[in-house]
Parts: sequence; C-alpha cells; structure tokens
Amino acid sequence: MLSSSAVLPGSVVEHAGVSYWMERVGVVKTLVIGSTQADVVGAFAGDTVGDTFRAPLTADNALALRRALPNLTPTKFGLAMSAGFGDRLGICTPGHVAALKAVGGKIKPVFAQQSIREMGRCGRTARNVLDDATWGAFQGGWGGSVGADADHLHTFADIDSCVEAGYIFFTLDPNDHVNPEAEHATPARCEHMARALDWAGLESSYDEFLATYSGHTIELEDGAITLDDASLIRALAKYGDALVQTMAMYRHLVATGIDFEFEMAVDETDYPTKPAEHVVIMSELKRLGAQPVSFAPRFVGGFEKGIEYIGDLAALKRDFEVHAEIARVLGPYKLSLHSGSDKYSTYPLIAEATRGLVHLKTAGTSWAEALRVIARHDPVLFREVLDLSIKEFDTNRKSYHLSCDLGKIRTDVPDADLDNLLTLIDSRQVLHVGYGAALTTYRDRLYACWLDNEDELNEIIAQHFIKHLEPFARWA
Ligand SMILES: [Zn+2]
Repeated sequence: MLSSSAVLPGSVVEHAGVSYWMERVGVVKTLVIGSTQADVVGAFAGDTVGDTFRAPLTADNALALRRALPNLTPTKFGLAMSAGFGDRLGICTPGHVAALKAVGGKIKPVFAQQSIREMGRCGRTARNVLDDATWGAFQGGWGGSVGADADHLHTFADIDSCVEAGYIFFTLDPNDHVNPEAEHATPARCEHMARALDWAGLESSYDEFLATYSGHTIELEDGAITLDDASLIRALAKYGDALVQTMAMYRHLVATGIDFEFEMAVDETDYPTKPAEHVVIMSELKRLGAQPVSFAPRFVGGFEKGIEYIGDLAALKRDFEVHAEIARVLGPYKLSLHSGSDKYSTYPLIAEATRGLVHLKTAGTSWAEALRVIARHDPVLFREVLDLSIKEFDTNRKSYHLSCDLGKIRTDVPDADLDNLLTLIDSRQVLHVGYGAALTTYRDRLYACWLDNEDELNEIIAQHFIKHLEPFARWA
C-alpha cells in the first residue's frame, strides 16, 4: 500500500457513500476510489488494489469521473456571475479553485475555456482542455458546479468538435464577417453594403429592417438612445454579415440537439461597439429567436494581453454603464469582459455597472504567472523561453493587440531578478504571447519544473486570481 503522504488532501471527496481522491507519487497522479464494487468502479479503467480501485488520469476516466461526481459535468450558468480561467497548460485549475474559495466560492467557474486558435498553438484538443479542467477541479476539491466554454468559435467544424467533447457554453465569434470599412464609409456606401446583405439569412429585408428600427427609442436610466437611419444603416453595414454568420452558427448548434447557452463576441473587432450597434445586434438576434446569455462588445480603450487597461477610465466607466443598461433592457443578459486578465482598475467599474450581470474572461495569464516558477527554479530554461519568445515575437503577435517594445527588454539581468521580467510590461507581453513556440520546444522541461514545484505554482496562481475575483465577489 502507498503511504498516506501520497494523498493530495484537498482532493478527498465523498459522493453517494463512496470516497474519491487523488494520489501523487513522483510526477504520476492517480485517481483512487474507496470501493471495488462493480457498480461504482465499472465505468473506470484501472486496477483493484486491496479495498481500493486505482485509475490513471486518462480521457476515458475523466469522463467516468464527471459521471460519478455530477458537479464536474459542465452545466449552464444562466445569468449567474461567472469567470473563465483560460488555462493553456492544463495544470492551473487547482490554483483557480483556491482563488475562488478564497473569495467566497459564489462566482461560477469556467475552468475549461480555450479558443480553437489557442488549442492549436498548445497542441491540445477541446477534449484535452475539458479533461484537464476536470482533473484540476477534482484535485483542488471544487464541490460547486462548473461551466465549459468553447471559446471564440468561427466555423461549424469548431462547433462540432466542442459539442462532441462535452462543452455547454459556446462563444460564437463572427469577427471574420464584421466589416470595419463601414466605420468610416460614406452613407451611400453603407447603404449599398446594407442592401447587399444576405437578407434571407436574416429572415427580413432592408426595408423591413428600417421600418422596424427607424426612430425607435430605447429608454435608459440616463437618457434615451434614438435610432436614426444613418446609425442604423452603418450598424447594418458593419455587423449585418456577422449577424448572418452568428445565426448560421446558432442554427447549427440547435441542430446538434444538445442543451447549451451561448455568448456572442465581437470584442476582437477594430472599433469600439457603439450603443446603437449593440442595440441592433442584440435586437436582431432576439427577433430571430437566439437569445445569448452574454454579449462581449469591444469596449473603448485598450485591452491588451497581460497588462492593465490602457485608456481613459472615466470613458470606460460610461461605456460599461451604457452597455450594461442596454443589456438589462434588451435581455437581461450578461456583459462579457474579454482579455480580462490583469485589468484591475476595470473590475470594480464593470461589476458595479452590470450589478453583477457579468462574465469575466481571462486567458493566458495563468501561463504568464506560471513562468514565475520557471524563473525562480530553472533560470537557464527561463532564459531560453525568453529568447525564443523574443525571436518569435513577430509571428506570435499577429493575432493579439499588443504595444510592447522589444527594445525595452533587458535580458542581461541576474537570475534573482528574472521573475521581475514577468512584471515589467514589455517582457510580460512578449512572454505572454510566446506560449505556442515555448510549449512546442520546451514542453517536457517546463512541465517537469511545474510539477516539481506544484504547491508553489498553485499558490502563485491562487494569489494572482484572488486579485482578479475580489472586486467581483461582492456582486456575486
Ligand atoms: Zn475575446
């Protein structure tokens, strides 16, 4: 028998009279079930050892565990305040769990959340992401419900792979169909674009659209938004094709027959989402029978990876307030804050503006923080990751909004100060987006270091996320 010191104490849970826990020996983790009865362990692949059953952390066993412990099966959260953790590494969930517990445990967690783009760069599949989140939530002793966000989906194939894996929350991103030209196009050009839309896909016509919305007023607490023809036509020219695409993806999801909820995200577009555009997008989705649980507009100012908000906080506060009010009037649905990591100044503002009807979406910040473990325990490897991230930066930066300056990064710092490169914004951003190449090149060494220092990793992640979640917790 193994010594009891192998038991990861936070993982011990009892359900339906059976104990489940995780053990770790060296780098190998094992699920242990305190039963050998066929009706309990039959769904798992593993071995009976004495009066326990021991199962390796495989994909099939993760699925069996989700069935045995139903709180680990992804569920819909509706309008409850929620947060997405976007762990690219598959090992940070215990830290996320610790942070959630530390702030009261009321915020609903989406541990499994990764965009298709990032899955590709991390060498993961939708199913890997879900399974890693299951093991992490179990290891951390999370007893609440969990979500699972198939993030930034662009195609039917993306949807199918995530449906198959067991996701329940779908972030539909029609960004390839947003037309930024409409931001500054002439009224005549906008009208031309709007008339040329796929009106069958919108089950409407140009004239019907204008007849519905022209002169329409949305009463908000701080005044009204009146929809004039010029704004309506420009909103259509910009977002009409994106609406067609969103509806096509939505209908595809409905046709799968699964129970689901969805978010519409236009946060990766070039220009901030104007109030009239928000009204048109969400009113049209509602008219077509698709009611998102959350909407991610592009807010004013700069939401860059891994660093504080860039811009005028007073303007952002007003932007949050107007979008939040529209969401209350037309929904209610939640506002979703993307690229939400490290934007500490914005959290109290959006939590208050939405009165807690909010989803915080972070991605990648756990990877950046996990690099602190590498900086402290394997400086040679950290320098290799940094050099590679600098070398690959021009490729890595392509799909992200970044303003870092490679010229400002000092690489000739002593080992004791390497950690600080994850605090200084230029190096933090370069490392933040360097995950793809780094994980491809140094995967085994990185994971070995994280596993050797697992408690420290969990503590770093927990402290980092407590700072994110605390401003929201009182509205949860
Ligand atoms: Zn996003």
